[in-house]
Amino acid sequence: MRIGIGYDSHRFDANRPLVLGGITIPGSPGLIGHSDADAIAHALTDAILGAAALGDMGRHFPDSDPAWAGADSVQLLHDAHAMVRHGGWTLNQADVTVIAEAPKLSPHVDAMRARLAEALGVDPGAISIKAKTNEGMGFIGRGEGIAVMAVVTLTVV
Ligand code: MG
Repeated sequence: MRIGIGYDSHRFDANRPLVLGGITIPGSPGLIGHSDADAIAHALTDAILGAAALGDMGRHFPDSDPAWAGADSVQLLHDAHAMVRHGGWTLNQADVTVIAEAPKLSPHVDAMRARLAEALGVDPGAISIKAKTNEGMGFIGRGEGIAVMAVVTLTVV
């Protein structure tokens, strides 16, 4: 078994749609990024690559490459998992914590879990997504952006 950890943060931008966990959430500022800035997909991708010691997202999908401008980050997550599977590992389980003051994510969590599970070829029961606020502290507390932490386990294919 392998364990991987991933972290991501993005700054809010009112002129972009908010995409998290592969789901577009209406009524909230979006996030700044070269791709669709889906911080859940990015943290999960880094956790999966990390568990297999395959580097990080920046190595495989560099933000200097116009090919990834506006990219669907769930597709990048799928592609990273395919690399890991090629190396003999497959996702067993993922646990994600989103840290944001807003928006409220609970109405969207099951849709995110379903979308991510489909992209990874696992049961939605293998994907956990939890949301926390930062109790008003720091950049998250001031509403400047959000952060995501992810832990995954891989098992042999
Ligand atoms: Mg990111």
